[in-house]
Amino acid sequence: MNCRHCRASLTLTFVDLGSAPPSNAYLTAAALKKAELWYPLRVLVCSECRLVQTEDYAGASEIFTETYAYFSSYSRSWLDHAEKYVATVVERFRLSQHSRVVELAANDGYLLQYVQARGIPCIGVEPTASTARAARDKGIEIIEKFFGVQLAEEMLGQGKPADLIAANNVLAHVPDINDFVSGVTMLLAENGVATFEFPHLLNLVANNQFDTIYHEHYSYLSMSAVTRIFERNGLSVFDVEEIPTHGGSLRVFAQRNSDRRPRTDAVGRLLDRERSVGVLTDAYYAGFQSRTDRVKNDFLRFLVEAKRDGKKIAGYGAAAKGNTLMNYAGVRPDLMPYVVDKSPAKQGKFLPGTRIPIVDESHLRRERPDFVIVLPWNLWDEVTTDLSYMRDWGGRCVRAVPELQVS
Ligand SMILES: [Zn+2]
Repeated sequence: MNCRHCRASLTLTFVDLGSAPPSNAYLTAAALKKAELWYPLRVLVCSECRLVQTEDYAGASEIFTETYAYFSSYSRSWLDHAEKYVATVVERFRLSQHSRVVELAANDGYLLQYVQARGIPCIGVEPTASTARAARDKGIEIIEKFFGVQLAEEMLGQGKPADLIAANNVLAHVPDINDFVSGVTMLLAENGVATFEFPHLLNLVANNQFDTIYHEHYSYLSMSAVTRIFERNGLSVFDVEEIPTHGGSLRVFAQRNSDRRPRTDAVGRLLDRERSVGVLTDAYYAGFQSRTDRVKNDFLRFLVEAKRDGKKIAGYGAAAKGNTLMNYAGVRPDLMPYVVDKSPAKQGKFLPGTRIPIVDESHLRRERPDFVIVLPWNLWDEVTTDLSYMRDWGGRCVRAVPELQVS
């Protein structure tokens, strides 16, 4: 396989997680009678441009299907994050009712609703029908397509360029990263700004976040790789912030190469830091497999011992990252009989691969489990607070990543 950015041949393996079904392909009861498609889940590193990327296996259309079930609006902290983002960029870049905002991967309108509320014209791009419908229900205009150069051309043909393009938590999800970034450059107005948020590779490596690896995440991005990929596709980075979402993300601000905003010191500082930890060397990527296996084995040992001791176990949060962990660990309903999730779109369905049923939260009060495994560890504080009522019966919360913790 060749690098998705620079076409160099890929020879260095970062981590091999065996195989897994697409992480957001939740199963209906009827689907349990059928086979599931499992794909290899192996991540490689380009020794030229340092883009960390999943092995090629299938087109995006097989993953982002009609039944795609990730609705951003079901997490309160995520909505807060979106609202604060909108307030910040509106003020910093002086957006008004004369501006045009485009969000790529608008999901269910969790972010554009705050743009719309300020009277700023906006439009979302969202290829998944179920979430696009939810956004339209909020009154937000949605183009139901994948974004790239072709769609950017179509959008320019129908309206003016964008003063702000929000591409938050989508850059890692696109298979053709060059086409996506080129499309952003094309759609951006003169002096327009594009922001990108993505989990930072440094945190993935430092905090054993191997469960953030799944097929929908084609890329695992360092600032070094992003800066290079952007430059080659017409965008230059002028600022960066480190933000706490998804276990530690970057928010990168970019403009067209021809625009003149000065680059802040934060950009150079972060590039220096990446160089000093070794992001540009092969050695940095070695050793991740063994740390991954240690986390997986500790988690599995905990479940087996708890079961042997007659403890009751439940899962919380039918998140994609939980599916990676549990499929890699080979967990099945005998070790985790059910997973609780707030999203009605997931309740009544089953986790892909592990086939564990997803139920509503009333199950916890009824079953009174001894241990609840919190799968979306990025929401650990929010979830453990929400579940503090479990103390009534001595129930405890558990996380597997970055290392096993029972609270
Ligand atoms: Zn490359």
